[in-house]
Amino acid sequence: LSPTGFSEKLPGPAVLLNMRQVRDNAQAMFDRAQAAGVSFRPHFKTHQSVEVGACFLELGVEQITVSSWSMAQAFVAAGWRDLTVALPWQPGASEALSQLLGQCSQLGVVVDSEDAVQALLAEVQRWPARHRDGLRVWVKLDAGYGRAGVNWTNQACLESMFRSLHQAGLVAQGLLFHSGHSYDVTGQSAIAALHAECLSRVLPLREQLEAWCADGHCRLSMGDTPTCSLLNEWGPVDEIRPGNFVYYDLSQLEIGSCGVEQIAASVLCPVLSVDAAAGRMLLHGGAVHLSKDRMQDQHGVHFGQLAAKPFRGSWLLPHEGLRLNDLSQEHGKVLGSAELLKHFRCGDLAQVFPVHSCLACDLHRHYWTIEGRQLSRIG
Ligand code: PLP
Repeated sequence: LSPTGFSEKLPGPAVLLNMRQVRDNAQAMFDRAQAAGVSFRPHFKTHQSVEVGACFLELGVEQITVSSWSMAQAFVAAGWRDLTVALPWQPGASEALSQLLGQCSQLGVVVDSEDAVQALLAEVQRWPARHRDGLRVWVKLDAGYGRAGVNWTNQACLESMFRSLHQAGLVAQGLLFHSGHSYDVTGQSAIAALHAECLSRVLPLREQLEAWCADGHCRLSMGDTPTCSLLNEWGPVDEIRPGNFVYYDLSQLEIGSCGVEQIAASVLCPVLSVDAAAGRMLLHGGAVHLSKDRMQDQHGVHFGQLAAKPFRGSWLLPHEGLRLNDLSQEHGKVLGSAELLKHFRCGDLAQVFPVHSCLACDLHRHYWTIEGRQLSRIG
């Protein structure tokens, strides 16, 4: 599509992807995992797209992570057969679990309490023995983030969960954790310290739990984009599950996880009106298109940055001087200098770089590539 074709086809905001950069990001993380000798199980919740997923398939990646049962069903329908559903299991997911097990070679399930283990065992006992073959049970550990999982200090609970699984013939894979608190620090040394702290909590547990695990090895699965991007090796972990790295975003840029050229997702927003003299521009692009995720820099709070010129068919980079200062449901208010804003006219497409690409992309049904191809998002 020509840039004008884009304008005609886009009555409202739409996600624009730089697929060449998506492929480069996928390749770079794949190479890092290979070099460190760990399994790579990318989290597909960021893109939720069969076409973007195919970039990983081209690299030979066959194992993925998803964050919901419906996402698992959609990727299995697209041909993926080795998945971990990295959301703690609960009995309402029984039907999906049973159905997916019949289709997958391996299906990872996460449990985060003794209660959940008992509910899972009650469910599994109703199945024929061979139906369990592909089931891989992970115990979710809270290694410091504080969102989900058994706290690392609660060794009694962890032992009880592993023992219950073992006694019921469902051998645990190991511990799965997510260091989401890496988003609260910046720079490589802070991330390295945070990861070292997590490992100091996880490794003694691993030794205690080994006896109850498959092959006597308590596997460690971890994954957050800052830690996976900023460290070259992660100690004795078996698997990494980053997701955001496929697109990166402004918050990853601030953490130091990526360079600005590695950001591969943006939202094209039609310009409604410009008052360059007043240093303001109004976009069709609000919280329902970008999410309300915000960040703070030296100029204050903002909801995203814009490229310095309207989109004309080539990928642009965010400019610190053009900021989404305020968002309502449908509108975005941009502040910037008259010098920058004079380039924009009503009907142009502004390329907006959201603070958090996962949340912004989740709000759209489709993606567009620079070349004008429309990609579908599941769900
Ligand atoms: N694993 C789990 C359990 C997660 O919740 C997430 C993200 O929320 C990830 C992996 C991927 O982390 P990131 O979004 O930092 O790439």
